[in-house]
Amino acid sequence: MALNKRAIVTGGTRGIGRAIVKELATKSCCGVLFSDVAFIYNSCDECVDEIRREVNSDETKIFGFKADASSYEEAEATVEMAVKELGGVDILVNNAGITRDNLLLRMTPEEFDQVINVNLKSVFNYTKAVIKYMIKQRYGKIVNISSVVGVIGNAGQSNYAASKAGIIGFTRATAKELATRNITVNAVAPGFIETDMTNKLNEKQKDALLQNIPLQRFGKPEDVAKVVAFLCSSDADYITGQVINVDGGMVMS
Ligand code: NAP
Repeated sequence: MALNKRAIVTGGTRGIGRAIVKELATKSCCGVLFSDVAFIYNSCDECVDEIRREVNSDETKIFGFKADASSYEEAEATVEMAVKELGGVDILVNNAGITRDNLLLRMTPEEFDQVINVNLKSVFNYTKAVIKYMIKQRYGKIVNISSVVGVIGNAGQSNYAASKAGIIGFTRATAKELATRNITVNAVAPGFIETDMTNKLNEKQKDALLQNIPLQRFGKPEDVAKVVAFLCSSDADYITGQVINVDGGMVMS
């Protein structure tokens, strides 16, 4: 029997990241084998056992590592521990993210730095830490979670939009650098997905957003996770440097 793939997912405890962990660990569709998964999280210790229970599989192993994804030193140390437990790494999903929304006039330098560090610098941290393993084995799939806000912008989210647009540039540059080593790098840009991050919006804001979604519903974390799993699969071997919108048609180009 073929060996499981080995995946690292940042921000795996809640929302989209949690759905990605479960999708990679439990599905063997579209050329993705069941994956052993190590995920990184910030605070939710109780989530680790919850996820293990939800996955409930004898086929796959799940590991949770508490680390601040914005710290390069912690990323290096965590990847080393994860690789030891998994026996290598084939897949990286850079998903950890936060918002600190404010109009630019009121936004503090701390709010700007926090968002850039957690959302964008973490992508540098984890990508740099895993590629030495991927280059050596001449195989790797990297998926970065951007946002439609990084493509079209959004008032009150200049820090978040900059971080998510930065992820798109980083994705394209690294896709070009790593292609000769058989490593693909793609981004997924979700629209409005129902998670803790978007629960903060009031009904009026949600109604306004719905007007701009042709499919007339908000997305579910699983809608994003399935596309991520496809990009991590052998069916996507000829796709690199792309940004796939998962947004119910909000942004069409
Ligand atoms: P969420 O429900 O708030 O979950 C965020 C995840 O990131 C949690 O697992 C959290 O860990 C982790 N995290 C936060 N700060 C971290 C840090 N410093 N180090 C390590 N882990 C950290 O968010 P979500 O809605 O699922 O969003 C996931 C990704 O999708 C983000 O990059 C977000 O920008 C992007 N996205 C979301 C939407 C949407 O509509 N929801 C749309 C477009 C893009 P703890 O649980 O331990 O705190």
